Amino acid sequence: MRSSTRVVVIGGGVVGCSVLYHLTKRGWTDVMLIERAELTAGSTWHAAGGFHTLNGDPNVAKLQQYTVELYKEIEAISGQSCGLHLTGGVMLAGTRERMEWLKMAHARGRYLGMHTEIISAAEAKRLMPLIDEAKFVGAMYDPFEGHLDPYGTTHAYAKSAKINGAEIVLRNRVIDTRQRADGTWDVITEQGTVHAEHVVNAGGLWARECGRMIGLELPILAMEHMYLLTEDMPEVAEINAATGKEVITALDFEGEIYTRQERGGMLLGTYEKACKPWSETTTPWDFGQNLLEPDLDRIAPSLEVGFEHFPAYARAGIRRIINGPFTFAPDGNPLVGPIRGVRNYWVACGVMAGFSQGGGVGLALSNWIVDGDPGFDVFGMDVARYGDWTTLGHTNAKVRENYSRRFRIRFPNEELPAARPFRTTPVYDRLVGMNAVMGDLCGLEHALWFAPSPEEAKDDFSFRRSNDFAYVGAECRAVREAVGLLEISNFAKYEVTGAGAEAFLDRLLPNRLPATGRMVLTPMLNPAGRLIGDFTVGRLSDERFVIFGSSLAEAYHMRWFLAAAPAGVTVRSLGLGLTGFQIAGPKSRELMTRIAARDVSAAGFRFMDVAEFDLGTLPALVGRVTYTGDLGYELWVKPEHQRALLDLLVANGADLGLRPFGARALNSLRLEKSFGSWSREYRPIYTPWEARLERFVSTQKTGYIGRDALLAARDKGPERLLNTFVVDALDADVIGDEPIWRDGTVIGWVTSGGYAHASGVSVALGYVEAGASDPSAAYEIEIIGERRPARLLSEPLFDPKGSGMRM
Ligand SMILES: Cc1cc2nc3c(=O)[nH]c(=O)nc-3n(C[C@H](O)[C@H](O)[C@H](O)COP(=O)(O)OP(=O)(O)OC[C@H]3O[C@@H](n4cnc5c(N)ncnc54)[C@H](O)[C@@H]3O)c2cc1C
Repeated sequence: MRSSTRVVVIGGGVVGCSVLYHLTKRGWTDVMLIERAELTAGSTWHAAGGFHTLNGDPNVAKLQQYTVELYKEIEAISGQSCGLHLTGGVMLAGTRERMEWLKMAHARGRYLGMHTEIISAAEAKRLMPLIDEAKFVGAMYDPFEGHLDPYGTTHAYAKSAKINGAEIVLRNRVIDTRQRADGTWDVITEQGTVHAEHVVNAGGLWARECGRMIGLELPILAMEHMYLLTEDMPEVAEINAATGKEVITALDFEGEIYTRQERGGMLLGTYEKACKPWSETTTPWDFGQNLLEPDLDRIAPSLEVGFEHFPAYARAGIRRIINGPFTFAPDGNPLVGPIRGVRNYWVACGVMAGFSQGGGVGLALSNWIVDGDPGFDVFGMDVARYGDWTTLGHTNAKVRENYSRRFRIRFPNEELPAARPFRTTPVYDRLVGMNAVMGDLCGLEHALWFAPSPEEAKDDFSFRRSNDFAYVGAECRAVREAVGLLEISNFAKYEVTGAGAEAFLDRLLPNRLPATGRMVLTPMLNPAGRLIGDFTVGRLSDERFVIFGSSLAEAYHMRWFLAAAPAGVTVRSLGLGLTGFQIAGPKSRELMTRIAARDVSAAGFRFMDVAEFDLGTLPALVGRVTYTGDLGYELWVKPEHQRALLDLLVANGADLGLRPFGARALNSLRLEKSFGSWSREYRPIYTPWEARLERFVSTQKTGYIGRDALLAARDKGPERLLNTFVVDALDADVIGDEPIWRDGTVIGWVTSGGYAHASGVSVALGYVEAGASDPSAAYEIEIIGERRPARLLSEPLFDPKGSGMRM
């Protein structure tokens, strides 16, 4: 065993082997993998080996496509068969809603270059003769589905890595990982210590235990999972003989079943509602290549539906039942990337679909280690989408929920109930008392909209406009015509202090920093000149700045800040140590005049001013900015003052028409202003030129991260451009990820949208090929499988000059 190496990968499951292979592919050949037992000895060996490209997140779907395409490559290098069966597969819809969902997935697939087809139930029956087509309303066919041999595939990765120079050490447990003062690692194993620059935790079933070696509690939980193998079935033999092919794979959403041929019979797996976690707090090290006790009762409800939908299965004998554990993150996507504040420690775990995702995970992580950047947009699987706020109990509840809903539709207006409320602000009960329908963002409750009565304070889930429509509309109009009140405690807030704070932020951000008492908007760029953040930065003194951004990316941004901050600069996430409200609308200044202990006239407190002063009796930090595009203010106080601030605003605003509004109205209002939002319009695949943020980057300023690439991108010209469209929608608005058509070709995709209530039109924001952005052209946007006419706007719908917010 080498005593020193560049990278130690802990864990020889399919994921660790893929990471190892990809590192060697990038030219890092002095790397090693250490495996406690044999390769595949975790959850990999007993997997059903199915793979597919479908994923709710298009960026993850792309990586799944990459994974499927990779198998030929590793077979060729290693000479080891992956046992590939690219049979194609059908996803079967039993309800109209599921069919609509499939149509949307199919539409998304268009701009990803996927080859899915929407087909009738009769066509599905022709492709998969074992179904009872009367139970289905239609299906989606995907030629890129199939199954493989988990053992062969893992060994193909491992052999390819070895051929490229990597070392693999078996039967050697990593006992501890300790960081030296210089940031390098001592990896302590049963066979001795290895000194490494980087450590990758690909510990699968034991990833939690490996994380705990450095005091890290990863949000993952293993769940028991069962599939059964039938005896040989005459129906299968008949299909094989008639078609000369294997039976194709099928996914039955209503039965929560996936199925495929295995030898002369069928394999049938379920994601049962009555799911069961395994080893909830610690995974025993002596768990080897063991299986768990099958429990047919648990999957009986799914089997019952399965036997109705696939009648031949009811007649087949069961040859074997496999019950094995594998790990999940709360949202079911992998946890990949560097760990905040811990240099050169990487994770690649929580991968619940190792044979669909393992290749993409290996590619992204190896790029990240070698280049400092994953090379494409992996936010959907970045470990930083979870912050410090997760707990074992929260993860447990959310993973169970996710598992039991694996094949259920999540509607765009559907909030999931498990582990809620988890984090609340001091005004939570007050907002609920105002009939707020609450949503969950990073475990924190926030108001979505306000109903007229407690009985009506719930969403009817739908892909179409729903019961909140009229009330969200009234909230929007109250903001545009009078004054609205929104709780904004769920924004991310940071404080940057110290003698070096200015120089640090100057290097970090492409816009010029504000003068004391002022704010600026600025994106943040990676070295490739792409968007990794968008912020409002306020300066309170020479050495003290506040930054506001998206809470979705709080841990992601803190990781970046901490990695870049030099000694003498302190960066703190203020979290719920700062809570607040936004007041927005033409009457918001009148309200401020009544409560502020200073001159808040147009000249006395200008657009983009920021200052600390009292509101009534309460000490506050106030910024004159809104995300709705109106005259307005963000009011920040410590949590102990938040209730009092609410009282103060309500008491002084009632006669001005003050009305609470929620996140849905905010979304509608910002769409009317063509304001983008993080994780939608702003993601690491876009440049500021493409996102039309050019006025927030300074090309005169020098020395900031990403400047060279930014200038090069300007000279090259944008590949695509963000645009706003008005859509001739019927009863459904865009959600996001719909294709944009022009002249019968897909030329872009929607990033977000909805109904712009104050303007009375349906709006979509989206990127289209740069040469195809033309306000005089005719566009179409596909909503639930139907192409609707759309018009590209050359300016925002509401107040294009921005005079309202500046007045
Ligand atoms: C019943 C069942 C059916 C499944 N079906 C499918 C399917 O059809 N398609 C699909 O894509 N996925 C399927 N999966 C999921 C799939 O198995 C996982 O996605 C995959 O195995 C995850 O691989 P991994 O490398 O992350 O983890 P693991 O396979 O658990 O590998 C982790 C490895 O790390 C080693 N290790 C851990 N800690 C240490 C240490 N301290 N020192 C040294 N070594 C260590 C372990 O011994 C283990 O070999 C199924 C899983 C089950 C249980």
